[in-house]
Amino acid sequence: MANTPYTESYYAASANAVPPRPSLQGEVETDVCVIGAGYTGLSSALFLLEHGFRVTVLEAARVGFGASGRNGGQIVNSYSRDIDVIERSVGPRQAQMLGQMAFEGGRIIRDRVARYNIQCDLKDGGVFAAITPKQMGHLESQKRLWERFGHTQLELLDQRRIREVVACDQYIGGMLDMSGGHIHPLNLALGEAAAVESLGGTIHEQSPAVRIERGASPVVHTPQGKVRAKFIIVAGNAYLGNLVPELAAKSMPCGTQVITTEPLGDELAKSLLPQDYCVEDCNYLLDYYRLSGDKRLIFGGGVVYGARDPANIEAIIRPKMLKAFPQLKDVKIDYAWTGNFLLTLSRLPQVGRLGDNIYYSQGCSGHGVTYTHLAGKVLAEALRGQAERFDAFADLPHYPFPGGQLLRTPFAALGAWYYGLRDKLGF
Ligand SMILES: Cc1cc2nc3c(=O)[nH]c(=O)nc-3n(C[C@H](O)[C@H](O)[C@H](O)COP(=O)(O)OP(=O)(O)OC[C@H]3O[C@@H](n4cnc5c(N)ncnc54)[C@H](O)[C@@H]3O)c2cc1C
Repeated sequence: MANTPYTESYYAASANAVPPRPSLQGEVETDVCVIGAGYTGLSSALFLLEHGFRVTVLEAARVGFGASGRNGGQIVNSYSRDIDVIERSVGPRQAQMLGQMAFEGGRIIRDRVARYNIQCDLKDGGVFAAITPKQMGHLESQKRLWERFGHTQLELLDQRRIREVVACDQYIGGMLDMSGGHIHPLNLALGEAAAVESLGGTIHEQSPAVRIERGASPVVHTPQGKVRAKFIIVAGNAYLGNLVPELAAKSMPCGTQVITTEPLGDELAKSLLPQDYCVEDCNYLLDYYRLSGDKRLIFGGGVVYGARDPANIEAIIRPKMLKAFPQLKDVKIDYAWTGNFLLTLSRLPQVGRLGDNIYYSQGCSGHGVTYTHLAGKVLAEALRGQAERFDAFADLPHYPFPGGQLLRTPFAALGAWYYGLRDKLGF
């Protein structure tokens, strides 16, 4: 049977050691079968186990193989579209609930790290960097908006202040969120997987779900086994393919690329990011970066619609890095990789239930490190019969991409080109 390894990345190379887990052989019975061992699946499994459910997780490759083990590692609060957009598109009560949940994911991560002693280089502090006055104005209203929902660890940075936290001349200001921060994303996933097992959950790697037999007692089939469960949670996100056609129809996998420099040494690293905060700029097609635990610069950006792997990632991302930090022109790039996230037309996550017993969450459209941890909690609540917060997500309106599966990529690329042009022209 095919054995799918981690994609080559800095994270895979610096992962905490864990032996591979055996694939599923034969038939098992459980309360909940979770498909996918990224943050959505692992967070769901953990919350369910903490409430006494029996859980079996099926992972097509390795724990954290997908976006959860490849991302920028930035703990960013709220959703890919902010609460004001949600307020405009749904009623006040639903918006209020979603707004209150927008800062919970970061707290869940910190709680998990502390409770299960997860070694993942957790650091506090994330910066949104404004390149244009319009972006700065947006950050000012974002601060007011977030404070309205009780989120207070925020500081607006003027041009002088932002130069104190990031040595980049492009920015005219920014906003610091001390409840943001960063982590080694794969080590967070691996730590959460160990926590799942410590509570009696089972994880099978190299065990893709290839078919779901729906019904009162659904069965998930893998190449060499099957899991009979009371509930299924589908958490395959951008790597799910067509296993659940209803979900594939209203979302689009997109690639984004990350590079990692050689270790910079303490002095150079500190000169770039003196407080070790992570940074993302405010462009629609944004750049994001931070230091690793061993003082490399991890720099991401760029989006490939339709998730084709670009041939030369370094050639795409290194110029962006050098635009921000020309002082790194002689620094070697040690790693370059791509990962897929799932885009929805509204850029809000898709959460719901198929029939009585198949639950899903997907499509957080770029910012998902915090949301996916919240999603696990909300899905677990729904399985325990408390569906109020689940319904607040499930009732968000969603539409298929114009042009269907065939034309969604060119349409989305056209949209991105338009927004990229707006970024360049500064409006
Ligand atoms: C390069 C990159 C950088 C990013 N940077 C950031 C960032 O800095 N901050 C931020 O907030 N967000 C970031 N994101 C987004 C964030 O990483 C994702 O939103 C989040 O990790 C999604 O988690 P997930 O568990 O839903 O999906 P994934 O982590 O993709 O996990 C899905 C898992 O399901 C498995 N799977 C799929 N199909 C099957 C099947 N049939 N059977 C069994 N298993 C299956 C896959 O192998 C995979 O392991 C980034 C994404 C990428 C790709």
